[in-house]
Amino acid sequence: MALKRLGEFGLISRIRARLKYRSGQTILGMGDDCAAYKPAPGKCQIVTTDTLTEDVHFKKNLIPPERLGYKALAVNISDIAAMGGTPRLALLTLGISAESSLPYLNKLIDGFLDACAQFKVELVGGDTVSSPKSLFISVTLIGEAPKNRLFTRHGAQPGNGVFVTGSLGNSALGLKLLAKKKPAWKGSPKDVKFLIDAHFSPVPRLMESKALSRSTAKITSMLDLSDGLAGDLTHICQAGEVGARLWEDRLPRSPAFINICAANKLSSAELILSGGEDYELLFTSPLKDAKKIPGLFKKAGSPVSQIGEITARPGKIVLVGNNGRETIVSPSQGFDHFKS
Ligand SMILES: [Mg+2]
Repeated sequence: MALKRLGEFGLISRIRARLKYRSGQTILGMGDDCAAYKPAPGKCQIVTTDTLTEDVHFKKNLIPPERLGYKALAVNISDIAAMGGTPRLALLTLGISAESSLPYLNKLIDGFLDACAQFKVELVGGDTVSSPKSLFISVTLIGEAPKNRLFTRHGAQPGNGVFVTGSLGNSALGLKLLAKKKPAWKGSPKDVKFLIDAHFSPVPRLMESKALSRSTAKITSMLDLSDGLAGDLTHICQAGEVGARLWEDRLPRSPAFINICAANKLSSAELILSGGEDYELLFTSPLKDAKKIPGLFKKAGSPVSQIGEITARPGKIVLVGNNGRETIVSPSQGFDHFKS
């Protein structure tokens, strides 16, 4: 059955019937002109939005609809985590064609609502619009953060350590594997699956962000890695009018990433610097506070690595290679929608 038989209001009531998580803060949820909710005392509200567009951010034939629904929420949660916040309410806008298949849409919505339940986010409204050519999913996410402990991109100081959670490059390599059919790639199916999963289902680093927020460690700047390490670190350097030195041998890589890069003779540093969608946290902290950080992350379960240091040379990012030689990293090694 196609969507045109069900209509917009039919679709909305289906979404409503499938809601799994409701927040205690919501006064009025889905179904009115506006939603209403009561913010927690002492917190400030933070809000973000991100859109996934067919053939720009995803190919419909490559990503299963449930994963796409999950990812649409997860990438927004990652932005909330980057600020040290907790996600609360979501608005979902779907751009769909009347010819869209209902089973496909149901799976997409289920993936989104399962992610809402997993991360305790209530869907309180949104919009459905006709988009004849490409499907798009736009999410606006409202969160809360402690007023006096909001992490921003501004404030990195020369001498600070540069830290990152998890491992880098998995998603970019997963996308590479997906985009080209076998037998072009060498490697074990287990490694391939791990990398593709990293691309489809990024885990927003909420627990790690919370651990940092609750600690006494001074975090001078933070963001989430969405456009590649080179581009995102450039944002921190520009905001703080500083530079950075990275050490190639400290860039954290997963075993699957190492194996597939080696088997296919791919440059792992290049994939890490320019590949996007890691959704790991990148942050800077004075070295005297840095000692506290690995302990904080033990509970959250993901590793943390110091990959470099902030320098006093504005805008200059340097990579110290495994051979000790320094190369300049260009910000355009990251991803920018409007640059060719
Ligand atoms: Mg971000």
